[in-house]
Amino acid sequence: MAFDYDLYVIGGGSGGVRAARVAAETGARVALAEEYRMGGTCVIRGCVPKKLMVFASGYSRAMQEARAYGWSLESGGFNWTAFRGRLHAELDRLEGIYRANLDRAGVEIHDQRAVLDDAHTVRLADGRTFRAKHILIATGGRPFVPDTVPGHDLAWTSNDVFLMEDLPARVLIVGGGYIACEFACILKGLGADVTQYYRGAQILRGFDDEARGHIAELMEGQGINLHVGTDVERLEKRGNATWVKATDGREAEFDAVIYATGRKPNSGGLGLEATGVKLGRFGQIEVDDYSQTAVPSIFAVGDVTDRINLTPVAIREGAAFVETVFNGRPTKPDHALVASAVFTQPEYGSVGMTEEAARDQEPIEVYCAAFRPMQNAFIDKNERVLFKLIVSAGTRKILGCHIIAPGAGELIQMVGVAMKMGATKEDFDRTVAVHPTMSEEIVLMKTPVRKA
Ligand code: NDP
Repeated sequence: MAFDYDLYVIGGGSGGVRAARVAAETGARVALAEEYRMGGTCVIRGCVPKKLMVFASGYSRAMQEARAYGWSLESGGFNWTAFRGRLHAELDRLEGIYRANLDRAGVEIHDQRAVLDDAHTVRLADGRTFRAKHILIATGGRPFVPDTVPGHDLAWTSNDVFLMEDLPARVLIVGGGYIACEFACILKGLGADVTQYYRGAQILRGFDDEARGHIAELMEGQGINLHVGTDVERLEKRGNATWVKATDGREAEFDAVIYATGRKPNSGGLGLEATGVKLGRFGQIEVDDYSQTAVPSIFAVGDVTDRINLTPVAIREGAAFVETVFNGRPTKPDHALVASAVFTQPEYGSVGMTEEAARDQEPIEVYCAAFRPMQNAFIDKNERVLFKLIVSAGTRKILGCHIIAPGAGELIQMVGVAMKMGATKEDFDRTVAVHPTMSEEIVLMKTPVRKA
């Protein structure tokens, strides 16, 4: 049976674009369909615009600190419209680069929705069908808003934040994960009055308990009204505002209610089930270690598989798929010791295990230092950083590292390399400090604060 393509990729986000480009570079005939904008969540409505908003928001703190350091500064306030224009121009530029890179590699782009007719056939929205030897599903995920809450359609998601016309004055953020905490800090820094409701006992479930407590205190210290053990009971439109009744009886009005209550895989309506692809309970495509689905010709990478939902992981999964299928070198994407950062202000970078998970696994020593760095102490700013290492008592290997500090995302990348190489506590001890820095503490912690 003749095929039109060796590979048809559905979804132009981080995982799909990487796989398409690298496969085409092997000489394969590749096409890619994207129904929205090239670049996917990361570039268009996730990591990139979020990080630019983090930068924008950070200047309000920088200006306060600068005054304490002796600068005379007048802030005219933040101009969202001006920033938004520049932000979207930058996203257009990046989208153009993604598109150009695919073109250069010889990937044929179809700017429309694609679904599956069978294990080798893709049907486009305009009715055309193509047969491909392999199909890669890389359709990502989308924000989830629980539809059980009356008035839920009044809520925004992270998608809406990047497009908003004006900066809302009073904001409610619902949720306690990455996106909720990042947007709470961003919008606070941009000048909004921010309230955050989280249903559980402490934000950032799944992260290290001590770090979670530290972040929550820092967020409250910045003036974010954080209420844990609190969820939304109902939402109503009242004039221009949204009235919110909380599960603890609290009532308040907000100019924007942003739900950051998780994301769901984009697996619906693609014709997957009819072809025999298996979906999990949350709609995630089930794949083996090589990203292959139950149908041998169909593979899936990235958030639609709900493994580790991070851009660099999707990119590695896409690259491993090409190694396996087009270069004849079976390659499993490596999901071990993936470092990540929550872009709160300051940031929280982590890699490896939490103290709680590690002590369930084996005997450990915990090294932790929380202190006011020089830059804050000088201006009596009571914001502490945290450096924490979790060490195996048996092998002496570093099992986990947690850093809350300005630039923690940058720092944790470096610690990730050391941990990937199998660094022990003694390797850290042998390393001479860089002085004066905050991060020298990571090689100076001599006595465990706890053994468990
Ligand atoms: P998360 O899974 O991190 O957090 C979802 C939050 O919503 C949790 O606090 C959860 O509570 C809460 N929640 C879930 N369902 C409900 C509900 N029905 N009612 C009330 N609250 C609810 O999801 P995010 O949307 O923040 O982010 C999605 C993923 O995207 C992340 O897990 C991460 O992989 C990735 N991401 C990474 C970033 C980075 O690297 N910096 C930034 C942003 C996203 P509970 O804890 O009780 O379940």
